[in-house]
Amino acid sequence: MSDSAYGNFPKVELHLHLEGAAPPAFIRGLAKEKNIDIHRIFDDAGNYAFGNFTQFLQVYEATVETLKTPEDYHRLTLAMLEQSAVQGVIYTETFLSPDFCGGGEVAAWREFLQAIKEAADIAETRDGIIMRGIVTAVRHLGPDKAKAAALCAAETVGDWLVGFGIGGDERIGRLKDFSWSFDLAREAKLHLTAHAGEWGGPESVRDALSLGVERIGHGVRAIEDLALVDHLAENEIVLEVCPGSNIALGLYPDWQHHPIERLMERGVKVTVSTDDPPFFHTTMSYEFERLADSYGWDDDVLRTLNETATGVAFCDEPTRARLMKKLEQYQ
Ligand SMILES: [Zn+2]
Repeated sequence: MSDSAYGNFPKVELHLHLEGAAPPAFIRGLAKEKNIDIHRIFDDAGNYAFGNFTQFLQVYEATVETLKTPEDYHRLTLAMLEQSAVQGVIYTETFLSPDFCGGGEVAAWREFLQAIKEAADIAETRDGIIMRGIVTAVRHLGPDKAKAAALCAAETVGDWLVGFGIGGDERIGRLKDFSWSFDLAREAKLHLTAHAGEWGGPESVRDALSLGVERIGHGVRAIEDLALVDHLAENEIVLEVCPGSNIALGLYPDWQHHPIERLMERGVKVTVSTDDPPFFHTTMSYEFERLADSYGWDDDVLRTLNETATGVAFCDEPTRARLMKKLEQYQ
């Protein structure tokens, strides 16, 4: 069990990258099995080592070098869900990239997705944790790769693969260059989210809104434009806020300077996630603990985060009802 005071507090997480949740020991084991030398990405303590966002992306892609087959992803999914369940997570929406899972080919992607879903079913039976997938294009790979990812998503949409989004290096390209992919995903009835307002300023959040997204990954730099903050609040655009990730990457110096509380006070609906937890030395329990310590948030405020997240989860209504019931039972 988690040793945090919030270990048993149920949590709903909406923003988690599957490869980014890979425990370092798991990746080291896989690298050893395959004779791949990736010692350069670890520090002396065995944690992922990087100094800035660019290096973080490089380390992330080095971990992906070890993840080549559907079986690898099956094992990764089991390891990730076990880790999340220990943190009290009852539902996790996880970003999956066809670029890493089959190179953007639909037939190969189906095999990876099947392996990931099978692992999710095992974990749900074993630990009660529910997982749903969101296909995520990798922005710095460009619009053509994103089209392939969107086609993979549209071909496999259903009650498990529920969304489409975009992550990667926000400093490269413009979101409007990806509108074809978002239009295709919308027509396929996928829910939409996009990373914005992390490395880009308020204008990047406006760009994301122009794609018709329901949620924004991060979005915290909207705080630099109060008219935009009010627009998000009025239109109930929900932010997938990952404070520990923002602080680890130096976007804000510490929790006191993070804008999550100011966004919330101005009426924006916020949720809390870990993004890539072992990279940022965080867990969902740790995030809750730091929120409580930094802002004096009591259990009622933390419950509101969960209720907001459940309300905007991309799952179907029966699943949403099950989650709401689980949250109520804990009170
Ligand atoms: Zn992210």
